[in-house]
Amino acid sequence: MAGLGIGGFLILLVLSWATGTNLFSLLGTDTSSPGSGSVGTSGDVRTSPAEEKLVDMVDAVTEDAQRTWEQILGNRYERTRVSLFRDATQSACGMAESATGPFYCPGDRKVYLDLGFFNELSQRFGAPGDFAEAYVITHEIGHHVQNLLGYTERVRGSRSGENSASVALELQADCFAGIWGHAASQQGRFAAGGVELDPGDAEEALRAAAAIGDDRLQKMSTGRVMPDRFTHGSSAQRVEWFRRGMESGDPRACDTFGATTR
Ligand SMILES: [Zn+2]
Repeated sequence: MAGLGIGGFLILLVLSWATGTNLFSLLGTDTSSPGSGSVGTSGDVRTSPAEEKLVDMVDAVTEDAQRTWEQILGNRYERTRVSLFRDATQSACGMAESATGPFYCPGDRKVYLDLGFFNELSQRFGAPGDFAEAYVITHEIGHHVQNLLGYTERVRGSRSGENSASVALELQADCFAGIWGHAASQQGRFAAGGVELDPGDAEEALRAAAAIGDDRLQKMSTGRVMPDRFTHGSSAQRVEWFRRGMESGDPRACDTFGATTR
């Protein structure tokens, strides 16, 4: 279980139910539906009212996060797109499957999200639309920001381990997710057509971050903690960096690469 993180978390979650997949295989690439800015889904992804709500939530959070980064980075920010799929779809980074979990592909600069993942996440953390899902989306958009700012390049070929560059990259994406959380916590956002978080949402995101730390996932899957195999950081690290972004709202507070003494 080397690649644990949100992806590994997903694998653990879906082991119980992901048996007869691909029956619905809907390939969700780039069929932009009119009216929705950033999220591409293919025809029948909206099947149930609950999933329809989920698609709307992904769209709203993606739009809001991108607007936030446009405000922070100005013209250094280039928009990404979210490909929402069921079961499997093709990406420039290979097949995106339910078992892969959400990810960002630097090759085509797109975020890949699996609908089933969100269904599981919402059952685990509460009602759909809660901040645990927003955290997953904005973490992946954080990887897009890293790609634009040149951080992704630095990590190429990095090994795993608690002090590795790949862990630093993941923790920075957590911190960037927190930066969106900071922006979305400002009052009056909802009235202005944006996403506005409730005070309890931040706590929920912190719980989500704590739930998907490498130490916790390793313990769940193998009963042991192996820091040299960390890919995303421990629960404590993930909580800490999310919190730094959330409290500061400033990308300069997210220098996980400089903070190597942990
Ligand atoms: Zn990540």
